[in-house]
Amino acid sequence: MATLNKSVGCVQTFGRQRIHSLLRSWGTPRSANTVRRRRFASTSIRPLMQISGFSEEQLTVRDSIFKICSNFPDEYWMEHDQQEEYPHELHAALAKDGWIGIALPEDLGGAGLGISEATMMLQTIAESGAGMNGCQSLHANVYATQPISKFATPEQRGSMLSKLISGEARTCFAVTEPNTGLDTLKLRTTAIRDGDDFVVSGQKIWITSAQIATKMVLLARTTPLEEVKKPSEGLSLFFIDFDKSKSGVELRRIKKMGGRAVDANEIFFDNYRIPASTMIGEQGQGFKLILHGMNAERCLLSGEALGLGYCALKKASEYAKERVVFGRPIGQNQGIQHPLAAAYMQLEGAKLATYHAARLYDQSAKDTSITPSAVGVAANTAKYLAAEAAFVACERSVMSMGGMGYAAEYHVERYMRDCFVPRIAPVSREMIMNFIAEKALGLPRSY
Ligand SMILES: Cc1cc2nc3c(=O)[nH]c(=O)nc-3n(C[C@H](O)[C@H](O)[C@H](O)COP(=O)(O)OP(=O)(O)OC[C@H]3O[C@@H](n4cnc5c(N)ncnc54)[C@H](O)[C@@H]3O)c2cc1C
Repeated sequence: MATLNKSVGCVQTFGRQRIHSLLRSWGTPRSANTVRRRRFASTSIRPLMQISGFSEEQLTVRDSIFKICSNFPDEYWMEHDQQEEYPHELHAALAKDGWIGIALPEDLGGAGLGISEATMMLQTIAESGAGMNGCQSLHANVYATQPISKFATPEQRGSMLSKLISGEARTCFAVTEPNTGLDTLKLRTTAIRDGDDFVVSGQKIWITSAQIATKMVLLARTTPLEEVKKPSEGLSLFFIDFDKSKSGVELRRIKKMGGRAVDANEIFFDNYRIPASTMIGEQGQGFKLILHGMNAERCLLSGEALGLGYCALKKASEYAKERVVFGRPIGQNQGIQHPLAAAYMQLEGAKLATYHAARLYDQSAKDTSITPSAVGVAANTAKYLAAEAAFVACERSVMSMGGMGYAAEYHVERYMRDCFVPRIAPVSREMIMNFIAEKALGLPRSY
């Protein structure tokens, strides 16, 4: 069996073959019930989500990821969150079997599956109890690599992505800036050409995993805003080696509410040199390229939110069955049952929106009748619905458990803290409503 100590090529091949042999072994379609019984027979995790309608590939991903995650119990996540300690072991376990490259092409060593399967992977990680600590430790490697794989030259693709897939390298995604916030087209960090290099100066904020990442997907301004024809031009995309020992870069970790095992950072660039060969696509067209990764990110975040919500509801339902007050289980009271049941139905609705968006994203690569706007509307709708449903599920789970909902050792307080992230990032609820009002309802742009 290949291990991480063997050569990169071996690990990648092993991972890809392993994922494909898993998929092949499921062969012909089965009824959802048979699938459900067989899939979860070997794990102690009994999920709440209805699995009818998912593809064999998605269900196999779900089963396999649950098995890996069953080695990471709730206590592991509670301790890593409390100690603010990076969950390196989960990333290594997923890389070992090829999962980091789940949605990257096979010619690069990826599994060649889609964002639909990657969304299922991230949902399952969150749902296993890992929450945002688990998901944020790897998700940039899945979504931020989408525009690289699509728009990089053949030479760039090979040299840039294989180490991420094998788990040898990790990337962070650096877009957000403190002075421009959600107004991405006004980004101020500059990259100025100097010989064979670009020289980067400016500031990024909230960059997840930058402390451990050795690669960075970076969006920076190569033409001043005043000089561009359209506001969407003048930004360029780079995929760089993120060498923190070089001069011109400084990181500051941000103390945060949830997902504390994974670092988030302010990054200060001051004449930081990057090779011009790290530019992806055409100079000045980076915003369009990054949108490709952003829609994938919305799908993954939707899955992560769903996972948090289902996990919280499961913990609350189990507690409500066991906890006896006034001579009967609290879960026998409709005052406890109904809020949890309503939260469950909201999650099920958001689940349909999520996997619809992921399917559109995947199909749009081959079917030109699926417009970028249709994918954008679906991905934003899914992210909004899933994040709100997760919030309702987490809040009701905490409240249903009374004082124990507030105790770290019962874990739902952690999911409650975590579930603010999908509501805020990568785009806020308000900006999604602005976007939907404009693109789906045809109302005048408000921002
Ligand atoms: C845990 C975490 C991890 C993150 N990881 C990354 C990462 O790895 N890489 C990265 O690039 N970024 C990352 N982000 C950043 C994240 O994408 C941004 O925080 C998010 O896009 C919101 O931007 P902002 O914080 O600047 O909000 P602001 O733009 O300051 O907005 C603040 C509030 O005002 C509202 N608002 C602003 N304008 C309008 C308007 N016109 N109409 C209505 N409401 C409006 C917003 O909806 C929001 O509620 C992360 C954030 C968090 C919290």
